[in-house]
Amino acid sequence: MTSPAADSSDLDAIVCRTRHLLLDFDGPVCSVFAGLPAHIIADRLRKLFGDHAQLPANVARTPDPIEVFTYAATISTDLATRIEAEMTDQELAAVVTAAPTPYVHDVVTACQNSGRSVSIVSNNSARAVHAYLARHGLDDRISLVVARTSHDPALLKPSPHLITQAVEALDAEPGECTLVGDSVTDVQGARLASVHSIGYANKPGERERLSEAGAGAIINSLADLALKFRARVADPELLQLSLRLQGRTFGAPGLSVPAVNRRTGASSREGKSSQGDPP
Ligand SMILES: [Mg+2]
Repeated sequence: MTSPAADSSDLDAIVCRTRHLLLDFDGPVCSVFAGLPAHIIADRLRKLFGDHAQLPANVARTPDPIEVFTYAATISTDLATRIEAEMTDQELAAVVTAAPTPYVHDVVTACQNSGRSVSIVSNNSARAVHAYLARHGLDDRISLVVARTSHDPALLKPSPHLITQAVEALDAEPGECTLVGDSVTDVQGARLASVHSIGYANKPGERERLSEAGAGAIINSLADLALKFRARVADPELLQLSLRLQGRTFGAPGLSVPAVNRRTGASSREGKSSQGDPP
């Protein structure tokens, strides 16, 4: 297990290198299922298999809607499409009662004030993420949203697909991007995408799991992250980049916008496909 002293120095090193902060949504931004528990959504998704479907024991019992969706995709594209659509509807209902993660607004402010962009990279529905951000006054403070828009679960974390798509849309190098996530799959995806990772250990035992998965640093509270970013002097060049990126979104059909080349200021991604397209 990493010692607290080592953690602090690892976190300092990552913060120094971070120009673009990528936040997983459920956990680091909010508790999506605070009011509508995930296991209830998983039950609703299982009903779409039909009354006589013989589900494997792990799928029949899992409280994780993504696991039900992943199994559906092994049966047929049509079923996966229907399950994904229902999951999106359920997530849209869930974000109405989602609970904001303490200090997440402080992290966003600290990043903005130090010239860093903040984006969301999530396995949750892009529509649900956008709905939450609008509801909590974050929609014009987040540079980019790359989230689920497809019926293909293989595109979701731990695949690096969404993370790499965010890095490319930001016109960034992987080494200047950092993903904050509360799941082992976040850390795995970050490693595959060659971006830094910070594990958000918000439950007992998570610190060990995230550390073993290879997280670059671990935090227990987003307050730790806000303080680190706040302590860094703003780089004027980075600050201009952040201002240019504010308010952009990406990943949901009809919401894609061109990225801005941070070196030239020119639009560089016109016509780029959204997350729903194959990698
Ligand atoms: Mg999460």
